[in-house]
Amino acid sequence: MSSSYIQKVCKTAGLRSYKVNAAPNRNGKQYLLAKQRARKLYDSLIQKFGCIVMDDESYVKANKRGNVADKYKNKKFDKFPKKFLIWQAICQCVFKSDPFVSTGTINQEIYVKECLQKRLLPLIRLHKDPVLFWPNLAICHYGKMALGW
Ligand SMILES: [Zn+2]
Repeated sequence: MSSSYIQKVCKTAGLRSYKVNAAPNRNGKQYLLAKQRARKLYDSLIQKFGCIVMDDESYVKANKRGNVADKYKNKKFDKFPKKFLIWQAICQCVFKSDPFVSTGTINQEIYVKECLQKRLLPLIRLHKDPVLFWPNLAICHYGKMALGW
């Protein structure tokens, strides 16, 4: 049976389904500690900066929706469609960096040159107060060159 047929049958029968939310596997004590530490981090560090800047990267498949160049929209018979890596930074006051789009992977040289130097720095310079840049745990963010930058 197709999933759309199952959905149709469930809808006809008046049944609803829900997805289970993912949550950290913490006991009560761990939950309390995490909450206390988050508060401590916020009080001691984050409040000292005017804005928090975060970045992230994700792989996306080319499809017919969105703002993708025409030459990538019509690859109908690719068994393994081309993937794009998109990196972008955003901050608390909702400034966004220009996106970095690549068909390759991101290493620390590319990260420093294309993401930090060309795109993150202009975003940071839009602020008059110091900002806190909070990268995620991707490996390329913690290489010698990236940390030095
Ligand atoms: Zn900002």
